[in-house]
Amino acid sequence: MFRETIHHSSGVIEGAANEQHATMLLTSAVRRGYDVEFTPAGGALITWTRHLFGAGGNSAVRADRSISLEPFTPVGALSDTARDDLALIAGDRHARYDEQDGRRVIRGLVWQIPAFTTARLRARGLVVEDGDRLRLSLTARLGLLAQAHRTSTTAPNGWYRPSAADPYGSAGLNRPGGRAGMLRDSGSAATCACGELSGWGGDRDEARRLTRDHRRAVAAAFIAEHLAYVPAPAAARCDCGGCAECMTG
Ligand SMILES: [Zn+2]
Ligand SMILES: [Zn+2]
Repeated sequence: MFRETIHHSSGVIEGAANEQHATMLLTSAVRRGYDVEFTPAGGALITWTRHLFGAGGNSAVRADRSISLEPFTPVGALSDTARDDLALIAGDRHARYDEQDGRRVIRGLVWQIPAFTTARLRARGLVVEDGDRLRLSLTARLGLLAQAHRTSTTAPNGWYRPSAADPYGSAGLNRPGGRAGMLRDSGSAATCACGELSGWGGDRDEARRLTRDHRRAVAAAFIAEHLAYVPAPAAARCDCGGCAECMTG
């Protein structure tokens, strides 16, 4: 379950969203071309912009909209072992709860997770029963993905003295504040833990935009490839517990 916070035309609305509802929001958002980012806690942030016409009809006003989904039980830090266990469960359609010596365990086709670990995965909301099989919760899937794509940007070098090899460079000699003869480097590198992003921004804001674009691309690809589209409820209930209709407001 997620805590859902909607910033739309009539202000801020809070509610709760189950997996089905969250999936509807995420798949609708991608269909509409809105931006989605996942959080390491296992939540998501959907953002988009409206251009509204003000009174008189000729002044366009930019309005930022968002829906955030925060899991009631955050994924938290995961050990390598926990990651391995989750990968086992995710990769086996036969994963299910079973009993061993009177205690609940998770069993797959050719593997078994001990009772103590089973209890922890269950208490942390990382696994859920779906019919008679066991699968990862949506929270676990979003959190794992976000944790695999932790991005960072480097601090710009700032003012520095040109090296001896380039004693003059293009440094201005009459800069104020003791900076005569110094150069300014505002560049910032953008990288991701997945190793697939190595960007360079002219300044840190630009580098941060590169990391954000990367996280958004990762989220959009995941939603398109791994989440089945859930249509919005036929009856719009836009007053609003989080219908897809509020994405239009
Ligand atoms: Zn990445
Ligand atoms: Zn609505």
